[in-house]
Amino acid sequence: MTSALIFALSILFGLLLAEARVSRRNEHALRARGATAPPGDVYPWMTVLYPGAFLAMGLEGVMRSHAAVASDLRLGLFVSGALLFVASKALKYWAVSALGERWTFRVFIVPGAPLVTTGPYRYVTHPNYVAVIGELVATAMMMGAWVTGPVMLAAFGAALWARIRFENKVLNDIRSSFSLRRGATLLAVLAVPIWLQAQGPGRGATADAVRQVRVALGHGSVSDAQRVAAAAPAGAGRELATALVEIYQGNDDGARPRLQALVSGGARGEAALELGLLEMRHGRRDAARQLLEPLTRQTLSTTDDYFLLARAARAVHEFQLANDAYNRITNAARADVFAERGDLFLQFHQPADAVTEFQSALKADPSWVPAHVGMARALADDEPAASSAALDAARKLAPESPEVWLFDAEQQLAAEDAAAATAALDRVAKSRPGTAREFGLRAAVAYLERKPAEIDAALARVHGIDATTALGERLVAQEAARKYRFNDAAEYVRKGIAVDPGDATAQAELGLYLLRTGDEAGARTALEKAWTDPEGRSDSVTKNLLEMLDQLDKFVVVPHNDFIFKFAKEDADVLKPYALPLADQAYKTYTERYGFKPSGPILIEVFPRHDDFAVRTVGLMGLTGALGACFGRVVTMDSPRARPPGDFSWQATEWHELAHVFTLQLSDYRVPRWLTEGLSVYEEYRRVPAWGRELAPEFARNLAKKKTFGVKGMPAAFKHPESLSLAYFEASLVVEHLIDLNGDAGVRTLLKAYADGANDTDAFAKAFGKSIDDVEKSFAAFVQQKYGTLSAAMADPPSTVEADNIPGLRARAAAAPGNFASQWTLGRALIQAGDAAGARPVLERAAQLAPEMQGDASPHALLAAIAEKEGDLTRARRELRALLKYDHTNVEAARKLAKLAADAKADEDQDVGLRLVADLQPFDVEVHSLLGKRELAKGHQETALVEFQAALALRPPNLAEAHTDVGEVLLALGRKDEAKKAAISALQEAPTYARAQDLLLAAIGR
Ligand SMILES: [Zn+2]
Repeated sequence: MTSALIFALSILFGLLLAEARVSRRNEHALRARGATAPPGDVYPWMTVLYPGAFLAMGLEGVMRSHAAVASDLRLGLFVSGALLFVASKALKYWAVSALGERWTFRVFIVPGAPLVTTGPYRYVTHPNYVAVIGELVATAMMMGAWVTGPVMLAAFGAALWARIRFENKVLNDIRSSFSLRRGATLLAVLAVPIWLQAQGPGRGATADAVRQVRVALGHGSVSDAQRVAAAAPAGAGRELATALVEIYQGNDDGARPRLQALVSGGARGEAALELGLLEMRHGRRDAARQLLEPLTRQTLSTTDDYFLLARAARAVHEFQLANDAYNRITNAARADVFAERGDLFLQFHQPADAVTEFQSALKADPSWVPAHVGMARALADDEPAASSAALDAARKLAPESPEVWLFDAEQQLAAEDAAAATAALDRVAKSRPGTAREFGLRAAVAYLERKPAEIDAALARVHGIDATTALGERLVAQEAARKYRFNDAAEYVRKGIAVDPGDATAQAELGLYLLRTGDEAGARTALEKAWTDPEGRSDSVTKNLLEMLDQLDKFVVVPHNDFIFKFAKEDADVLKPYALPLADQAYKTYTERYGFKPSGPILIEVFPRHDDFAVRTVGLMGLTGALGACFGRVVTMDSPRARPPGDFSWQATEWHELAHVFTLQLSDYRVPRWLTEGLSVYEEYRRVPAWGRELAPEFARNLAKKKTFGVKGMPAAFKHPESLSLAYFEASLVVEHLIDLNGDAGVRTLLKAYADGANDTDAFAKAFGKSIDDVEKSFAAFVQQKYGTLSAAMADPPSTVEADNIPGLRARAAAAPGNFASQWTLGRALIQAGDAAGARPVLERAAQLAPEMQGDASPHALLAAIAEKEGDLTRARRELRALLKYDHTNVEAARKLAKLAADAKADEDQDVGLRLVADLQPFDVEVHSLLGKRELAKGHQETALVEFQAALALRPPNLAEAHTDVGEVLLALGRKDEAKKAAISALQEAPTYARAQDLLLAAIGR
């Protein structure tokens, strides 16, 4: 602002100097023509007053430009003033051009010259003076010179008055008095509305006070808002501004009569909107609608009109209308508009869109607190670091903002810190007491603390504020769901729905919770109810879940022992033969290990599309890191079709998720997240030593840097997405150590202690007879003993050497024989240089140092490639076996091993390769029929049957052969009727197929 003022001033004084030069030149010319200056002119006064007026106003303007509060008003006045200034100058120069060389600052009498009546002089006698007054008023506005403006205007006006009287006397013009009045009127027409905007009690001032209060509240500055409201001229504007401050402070009781008075006095617009929103907050919904609905049908012209409509429309659930209104005014680039729109996106679970809006809001006004808080909310799940940075920014701007503390309370609740959550809510109560959300969150804290009486008391407070809201129950339900207690969650949200049957969000949340309990029919009913409301229809989660349920309806349902499986049609026949026995084995293993039978049936849903899995699991697409999820009785997971081959082992996932069923249920869903994950990963490893150990080298590398989490660091490590996968791995090591300490019995005791409500300290004491600190110490020793060697090998290389500098790499490898990276980089460089013989011993050493490496980082992979190239296929197979021992999802290596083994008739290698390929890429016909033949050759008829059936399910090109494969095994198993059917099916495909004919004869023979 300051620089704009100085720029304007420099133009102003530039023009003044130019005018003075013209005046002096004309003066010389007039005197040369014999003109005389009559005595009695006030000219000397005016030579001081005229430039002095500009100077004084300019100084006041620059001084004031540092006070920032009313910057919107200042900008508006500046622009209006600049326009008036240009108009005044135009009028003046018009007059100057009409007067020609007779224009001067001084009054001259030119002998024999006629009176000028052209240009503006046709309309006004003194256009020049009108223009000068205009210049002064304009400058006062531009500079915001509230003191020197009026003073200088009055002084200059007096001088001008004297000048005009003098001039009239000189000119003896009878029209002058009339014209002077006309000139004054013209000026008044220009000046009065502007004057009113700046000072008076008119409409302009009202709008500005309200706007300024909104801006101050948006900046979290209640004191500024109060000051502006108090300074506003008495009337509607002050009432509305005051009401806004009261609402911000939670004083709805104070604001309500003010707003009612305004509305009954005929005010519409913002007063009606705020009163409507206030009534809504207190459950007087009919009254609220009566106020709000007319606002959605108003004629619109300004940004404020659209914004008002958008807010009213949102409150009465006209979301499409609200969104359309926002779309019309995005070019206004206003922080309040963007931030409200961001909130709308958040409401409907579209955080990415919300982030865009909040970013725009912050671009428009970096101090807009609701935009910072909104940003923190939108990023909370996926980018916790950015989220807390946004919250910090908000807190810095507005340390007492109730929005900041509400979000803080929610975050503390999520972190299970009841004391911190309560402290944050106390801060909310200080700056905005008496909101339903505050008491709803207090109820949720009471749930976390397992204090049922306090839950009820807090919910009663919510209903004291708004008897018709389900918000309190919904917040408790959210907390229950966060603790995996979905039955509780469903029960609470149902209580909320009983209070407010029309709450579409509550219905949608009930749908999500019921899905997690396995009640898919109930979930559909709830979601469809949500869908009947515009709120439900606008919500991405509701829409996603209903579409996903439609997909799920087409799934094949397979009840099996304690399970109900749901497979997609294209998956069912291939996955069933593997998934069902694996689940049975898991059930048996875990029942023995954990000493109880979980309540069931256990629903297992396998999704060929990852997005369907993600929606089934969290209601939203994405969830890229997760392969499976478990809610206690419901397991959801990706089918091997959902990801590229070799991306993951779906059987390891099934095994992992089923372990959760046991640990969650045994602990009554109170097991800490790190422990249930650690147990599941450790159970993977117990089943197949390569499963769940993929991150051993990375862990060892961190161990070398002393950057592991430790037992006590576990809960925190699970909160950061970037450390999550390593946290899973280390948790499994903690579990391994716990089992070392006290066997499976210790773990059982631990889980039961959590079920009984014990805290970590008590639970550990009960299960292991040790404090957590002691366990931490023995765990450190355990890790050293288990991974110390690998960790030493995985340390960073002692120096940096270019990847193609073989002598340098060689020197480094010799100097650091125990360093994996030094050996491996040399080995790879030698291969690239064509020195395979030189590479081999180096890589062998590397392989000894870190056999756990995966993919091309594994020396075994490089050694296999060398051997294959050199034609040493036996060696190649051996290296591939060594690689696959750890790299269990390396489907390419498994295929290569199977192929090399088939050529060499190395049966055992072939079995290993084929088995892995069949696990990782089960939709490969060839692999199943090969594997079937291998199993048959070994006399494993049952397993052979599974493979042949899988091959048949994939509709191979030679169907007759596939049917016959199945039939022959069935016959061998004595299942003659089925064998006969298989033979007939084969013959339907190929009537002359001899093997099928033989099979049929054998099957119908005795
Ligand atoms: Zn898990």
